[in-house]
Amino acid sequence: MPSGVGESEERWRKAGQNCPMPAAAKSPPSAKPDPGAAPAAPGAGPSAVQRALRKLGLVRDIDFALYLPLRYEDETRIVRLADVRDGESAQIEAVVTDCEIAYRPRRQLIATVDDGSDTCQLRFFSFYPSQQKQLDVGARVRVRGEVRGGFLGRQMMHPTVKAAGTALPEALTPVYSTVAGLAQPVLRREVRSGLARALLDETIPAPCLPQGMWDLRRALNFLHYPAPDVAVATLEDHSHPAWQRIKAEELLAQQLSQVQARTERAAQRAPVLARVDGDASLHARLLAVLPFALTGAQGRVGVEIERDLARTVPMHRLLQGDVGSGKTVVAALAAARCIDAGYQCALMAPTEILASQHFGKLVDWLDPLLAARGLRVAWLTGSQKKKERDAMAGAVESGEAALVIGTHAVISEKVRFKRLALAIIDEQHRFGVEQRLALRGKAGGGDAAAGRPALEPHLLMMSATPIPRTLAMSYYADLDVSTLDELPPGRTPVVTKLVAEHRRDEVIDRIQSQLAQGRQVYWVCPLIEESEAVDLRNATATRDELAETLGEQVSVGLLHSRMPTADKQAVMAEFSAGRLQVLVSTTVIEVGVDVPNASLMVIEHAERFGLSQLHQLRGRVGRGAAASACVLLYAPNEGGRVGEAARQRLRAMADTADGFEIARRDLEIRGPGEFLGARQSGAPLLRFADLERDGLLLDWARETAPRMLAQHPELAQRHVDRWLGAKAAYLKA
Ligand code: ADP
Ligand code: MG
Repeated sequence: MPSGVGESEERWRKAGQNCPMPAAAKSPPSAKPDPGAAPAAPGAGPSAVQRALRKLGLVRDIDFALYLPLRYEDETRIVRLADVRDGESAQIEAVVTDCEIAYRPRRQLIATVDDGSDTCQLRFFSFYPSQQKQLDVGARVRVRGEVRGGFLGRQMMHPTVKAAGTALPEALTPVYSTVAGLAQPVLRREVRSGLARALLDETIPAPCLPQGMWDLRRALNFLHYPAPDVAVATLEDHSHPAWQRIKAEELLAQQLSQVQARTERAAQRAPVLARVDGDASLHARLLAVLPFALTGAQGRVGVEIERDLARTVPMHRLLQGDVGSGKTVVAALAAARCIDAGYQCALMAPTEILASQHFGKLVDWLDPLLAARGLRVAWLTGSQKKKERDAMAGAVESGEAALVIGTHAVISEKVRFKRLALAIIDEQHRFGVEQRLALRGKAGGGDAAAGRPALEPHLLMMSATPIPRTLAMSYYADLDVSTLDELPPGRTPVVTKLVAEHRRDEVIDRIQSQLAQGRQVYWVCPLIEESEAVDLRNATATRDELAETLGEQVSVGLLHSRMPTADKQAVMAEFSAGRLQVLVSTTVIEVGVDVPNASLMVIEHAERFGLSQLHQLRGRVGRGAAASACVLLYAPNEGGRVGEAARQRLRAMADTADGFEIARRDLEIRGPGEFLGARQSGAPLLRFADLERDGLLLDWARETAPRMLAQHPELAQRHVDRWLGAKAAYLKA
């Protein structure tokens, strides 16, 4: 943990390691802001408010200061009702001329007010007695809300009502995104005092600061409490010096922590895995038993990895390669190098199905070779029987298990490695940062008394989802990237067809023709997010329907995420062995399954899937030499069309099979926040800056960060702490 941890920092940490991300200023949480000054729910003590604030990520003073308004209300002026046009929001002062509770047909409070220029009805469907009291006939009130015209005259629905005559504020009133149980006025007060308390002294040395930047406090004050004459357009203009300052600070914090991460990693030590050559090496023997020659890309990447493994600094490398590019072999060869050097290797996959596929393959390849040395491949997952798991854990601890394959159970605290030197994470984007953090120190070897730090394992992360360059630069500056840019030879590209739901019959014909050629077929059922039970019913019905249509001689299997793991594995094994010809599945087959004889994939309701998910699914076919196809069945809605984003996704799938191009389009359709968010749970995203739009500031931050760390390390640390707090750890993982 960095030094200079202040009291508020302490509070942040006490709030728990998994503090929620502050809601991004540009994407409000789903809870609707509550502009009305509804009193706090009965019984809402301070702790309820505290809890609600925490939900919004508001813990430290600085969190409040950086919690910028969604929009503003103008309470600075009183206007004449007669001057307000229908549909406009306005604040008036008027006298209550009538007030009653009516049933028409719902119970409601209706008051009439008159400001001398016109009259207006105020209507409330839910209200407190105190509100009714406020609206006693004869009372003079200040009312703010949207004025609507209508059959019954002018109306304001649920306006905000106060006593008239109090001083008017001098600035616009901020409206913040909030959650249930946290009324807007309470949140407003909390933000105001948080902002007032926050230490916002200058952390960026003057020579580093671009010309014309405002200081942080001025920028924040401006955006929280703009003067009434500031136009909305100005407040939303991101080239305004106030916004520029905030974005610059944020980008700088991010870059600083990246430089720090790089420096820290450079100081870490990992086991040096010297290369063992010769025919007797496991590496050479594995190469010899592989049923194919490596592609050029696999060979090149293998060398990149070997070079890292032989260094004293832990490897931190991402291996990206499109689905089917052959990442598993690269991983196996790296493991062999590690074992040759006398160490252990761990291979983790996000799901049990995928892990067991790796296990099946690597056991076949490696176990016979390892047995000769008294070593073996071990299997570890959470669903294992305790006895078996204990046995496996024993083999890991004794070092007999040279390679350990499994889910994240592999890095659970209870598993102690004798000599772990290499950790490989498949489909890394499906793992959280916590899991990568859990690897730290797992290589052992530390001796605090002798001043020797624990060793870090080398880390190889694999992903079929390439990270676009701009994101890589800002989020993964501390990552080396290897790319498999070549598919194994003999693959015919997968033909992708978009087929409307009502042409389902043609799809059945296609299936039959594939089956007649001895091929196998995947049928992926749609995502129905509300309930897995519905999902299962659906998938089951589809299986039955297909079985009936295709006839008795065709065996149709079902795979669903609700099934017990053993059943899933059994079904997968049947399909791999060719005993099942059609596999109906929910998206559990999304990652990594490898059945080269499968040549057709049908995805039902393809419009409901995300782009990279579709691409991953499609990657399950086209793994053998046979011509393969992917049919995207889509259901137009009543208008006969699919939504715009869905249409773009389907188009992209039909246009290209290139994973990099798919990732680029995905980023375009979804924007970087979501793109990363879905993959990188816990990664601190930029709240204010936008990597594309703020390219100039990003350049500035990239240039400034190393200089600032070298010349003003304390200021740099203060800056990082202020902006990232406990989240800094995530950036370094
Ligand atoms: P992914 O990169 O998607 O994880 P896999 O490692 O599962 O890909 O490999 C996909 C398929 O290609 C597997 O059946 C694998 O055995 C095969 N394969 C890998 N490398 C080669 C190669 N050099 N030549 C031929 N087939 C290969
Ligand atoms: Mg894979």
